[in-house]
Amino acid sequence: MTTLPTQIFRFAPSPSGYLHLGHAYSALFSWTQAQKHHAQFILRIEDIDTSRCRKEFTEAIYEDLSWLGLEWRDPPRNQSEHMDDYQRALKKLEDQDLLYPCFCTRKEIQNEVQQSGRAPHGPDGLIYPGTCRNLSTTERETRIAQGDSYALRLNTAQACALAGELYWHDERKGKVRATPEVFGDVVLARKDIHTSYHLSVTVDDALQNISCITRGTDLFQATHIHRLLQALLKLPVPTWHHHDLLHDEEGNRLAKRHNALAIRELRKQGKNPDDIKKMVGLLDQG
Ligand code: GLU
Repeated sequence: MTTLPTQIFRFAPSPSGYLHLGHAYSALFSWTQAQKHHAQFILRIEDIDTSRCRKEFTEAIYEDLSWLGLEWRDPPRNQSEHMDDYQRALKKLEDQDLLYPCFCTRKEIQNEVQQSGRAPHGPDGLIYPGTCRNLSTTERETRIAQGDSYALRLNTAQACALAGELYWHDERKGKVRATPEVFGDVVLARKDIHTSYHLSVTVDDALQNISCITRGTDLFQATHIHRLLQALLKLPVPTWHHHDLLHDEEGNRLAKRHNALAIRELRKQGKNPDDIKKMVGLLDQG
């Protein structure tokens, strides 16, 4: 008898605020899928953005999720402790000549876009007009030598040409053709933190052997870039399950600023875990 490899599901919150009902739904969704597939469930703390993430929020995440009845494989991975892994991935992309330093400030990008009279937008906002892609090697070296700070951007067109046609599987949508070109040249290493969400999440999902990535449909488009990075970095390709987002009665997306819907606030009001499950629609009302 052959034993199938263990499947692994994950919940990967950023500790930049208290968990709200939308997070609870996402965590419980992943947990429920893991149970259904007799899979492992892991928690990853996505804390690369040191200006927004706080230790107290990480502690609160542990506490709220435990209260909800979730159990995860210990210890959870804190991204901020694994910067070397992201630098290694950047090096692999650099070796393929797919990255370039971008010295532009937000303001400079806006000015450039304004002057061109075109402002194409992609899933992450304004598409970078490519200013620094065309700098000569000497210009790059001079600016780096004089200490100008820079981000590293992916030359997406070149990367797509190298990777060829790519596909990925979404549990709800089926086979999806990857269209990373809609992002333009994304930043893979920010000026301030030398990595990025797109890079870190892709590296970690591979390092942690995630078999199915569950997350909200707000990150559906991001998967196009992640699929491209997997191809360039020769990483295994999992499946994805993008779930719907929760909205309040006025149709607004539940975000961290809706403090009244923070799990700890609801706990204080006397709600129990089953009440939360009912509120997010994962347990029958009754
Ligand atoms: N850390 C991201 C967030 O809190 C989620 C990342 C992911 O699931 O891919 O929005």
